[in-house]
Amino acid sequence: MSNILALVEISHRGEIAASARGLLAAAARLGTPVAVVASARPLTDDDVARLGQLGAVRIHSAVTAAADTVLVTPALEALSGAVELFQPAAVVVPNSVDGREVAARLAVRTGGGLLLDAVELRGGQGTVAVQHSVFGGAYRVESMVEGGLPIITVRQGAIEDQAPPAVPELTVISLDGTAWDASSAKAAVIDAFNDDATGSARPELRSAATVVSGGRGLGSAENFVLVEQLADALGAAVGASRAAVDAGYVGHAAQVGQTGVSVSPQLYIALGISGAIQHRAGMQTAKTIVAINKDGDAPIFDVADFGIVGDVFTVVPELIEALNANRNVHV
Ligand SMILES: Cc1cc2nc3c(=O)[nH]c(=O)nc-3n(C[C@H](O)[C@H](O)[C@H](O)COP(=O)(O)OP(=O)(O)OC[C@H]3O[C@@H](n4cnc5c(N)ncnc54)[C@H](O)[C@@H]3O)c2cc1C
Repeated sequence: MSNILALVEISHRGEIAASARGLLAAAARLGTPVAVVASARPLTDDDVARLGQLGAVRIHSAVTAAADTVLVTPALEALSGAVELFQPAAVVVPNSVDGREVAARLAVRTGGGLLLDAVELRGGQGTVAVQHSVFGGAYRVESMVEGGLPIITVRQGAIEDQAPPAVPELTVISLDGTAWDASSAKAAVIDAFNDDATGSARPELRSAATVVSGGRGLGSAENFVLVEQLADALGAAVGASRAAVDAGYVGHAAQVGQTGVSVSPQLYIALGISGAIQHRAGMQTAKTIVAINKDGDAPIFDVADFGIVGDVFTVVPELIEALNANRNVHV
């Protein structure tokens, strides 16, 4: 079977990004998954075992101190080296800000073709076909690359399956002292990290399994606390419509939609959100959508799997109470 490279992102604290599971599952659908990792420190035995559990048959570990301080380039160098070494049939990359740039630069270097924000992938007879969710999630279109290496960014959460576990074969290379010189690399350099930017222990919005979002229907920043309370009762990330962000109920990082982030969680709960096409563009691929809105004709109900026509200030406190009561029963 052909090798398929999957770029595994590692945080500056050394944690394997949540996107790794879906990427390795996508790679396993197309061929033999090869995890490619650029990191400042060598992978630990636990990292190798974890990537094996997620389906990596091979791991290409490229180590450079610059991985902690230089954006994009270390991952690009790691992938470029792996393309030469493994002659892959495709490369899958997270559809993150960094991932998109790595993918684009790799396409330029290799003369490959770029397929962005895939929500579905399938392979067969030497081809890779990719689906994208377009026009606010109203349609899916299929694309493929002819005559070059397909380099695909995959929307986080879109691929649900898990690749069969493997005992990975590990290759370690050092990028330091190679032709690539971090100091001359034309890429932004990170001076410092602020892990407390959100001051929150909630899951990260893009990769969360459950997202609770609030809209203009919440009415004020004070009332938006209700969204956070429901999110905490469910262990969910907090999202928002643009109207809620523009009104100052919550920071821009929470905005879901065309000009915010795209999410594909298992469960998306929309509170007081009308469901404008620009909002739906960022959440319509969620597996289950629940909407609570006092207007029974709100367009959000067109995409909701479950809907409650009601006032969020009545329904949500009852929901939180029921969730907490249920939790107490099981403790
Ligand atoms: C170029 C462009 C890009 C955009 N990008 C985005 C984007 O990325 N994300 C995004 O979200 N929007 C985006 N928008 C804006 C989008 O068009 C909508 O204006 C926005 O999504 C509306 O937000 P909302 O649903 O919170 O507000 P509204 O449309 O005002 O809806 C509020 C809803 O709350 C309900 N409600 C009110 N009170 C209650 C209550 N007490 N209980 C229950 N329900 C209640 C109302 O019935 C209503 O349906 C964009 C627009 C443009 C033009």
